[in-house]
Amino acid sequence: MYSSAGGKQIKVYALGGTIAMVPGPQGAVPGLTGEALIAAVDGLDQVATVDAETFSIVASPNITIGAVVDLSQRIRGDAAAGRWDGIVVTQGTDTIEETSFLLDLLLTDLNIPVIVTGAMRNPRLASPDGPGNILAAVRVASSIAAQQSALHLGVLVVINDTIHAASTVLKANSHRLDAFSSPASGPVGAVIEGRTLIYSLPNRQPILAAGRLLKGPLLEGPVPVALVSTSVGDTGWLLEAVADGRDEGHYRGLVLDAMGGGHLPERLVPSVAFIAERLPVVITSRTGNGSLLLDTYAYAGSETDLRDKGVISAGWLHKFKAAGLLELLLRAKASKAEIRSLFTEFN
Ligand code: ASP
Repeated sequence: MYSSAGGKQIKVYALGGTIAMVPGPQGAVPGLTGEALIAAVDGLDQVATVDAETFSIVASPNITIGAVVDLSQRIRGDAAAGRWDGIVVTQGTDTIEETSFLLDLLLTDLNIPVIVTGAMRNPRLASPDGPGNILAAVRVASSIAAQQSALHLGVLVVINDTIHAASTVLKANSHRLDAFSSPASGPVGAVIEGRTLIYSLPNRQPILAAGRLLKGPLLEGPVPVALVSTSVGDTGWLLEAVADGRDEGHYRGLVLDAMGGGHLPERLVPSVAFIAERLPVVITSRTGNGSLLLDTYAYAGSETDLRDKGVISAGWLHKFKAAGLLELLLRAKASKAEIRSLFTEFN
């Protein structure tokens, strides 16, 4: 626990990731506790009183949806107890774009800031970015701007002194310090000279609608959602395996990452139509930026043809976020009609 004159009490949940890596025999491995992470941040005690807890010590590809649901329940309990003014989550950067969005969907009614951060350089490299990112995340969590607008901002990702909405942020580069961006909308703010500046508020309507559907108890076990991308050479065999039940995972939903404005090669359409009769099939754009078209093209495999076959458009939602949302909706036992109507909010 680090005490501060700043007055705000911030809880840090550490999940692992590069920010918490230590040298292993052949390369970096997760190892640092939450306490060790905050101990390495110079000046943290000038910003807030911070208490760190080690929630897990894993590389972020190993974070599960179940773990994020558990974390959301811990955070919800913290908020109900009124002990903390804000929450910071540290984790690996590989999956921040998904986990932050899952938290966003699960915590729509939380009126304290929740900030997710990580690092691109581990603590053993020259100029690691982890301590600076933790400091910036705690600054944002303690700021008047985030405190007053927590409900309107939702969960935020603070990294490289930039503030992103969880619904739009992507890890858009595999290695650079400035790996994160929000291509469709731009960031919502920045940390400048330690000040938190909010430039714009994210579109919360679809997220709030999702939150209403996710209020009740969620199924515990994984409810597998397939995420399938497409290319010009695609034979369609993968989709055929899902269509005829050869998929060993017995998927309960499918996110199809389609071309451009939401288009598929014609030869895939029969399998897609067959699957859409049994499961919710949600379509996204493999461009990863911009919204799907609704009413421009009418050839076989176009957006209007796929809609006629029962395919659901994810609008501006990125494929990883659409897959996470679909799994949460299935865990909440949402009907196909509810799933369709919710994704319509993103169009
Ligand atoms: N592979 C690491 C992880 O996501 C990368 C990182 O943290 O930046 O855990």
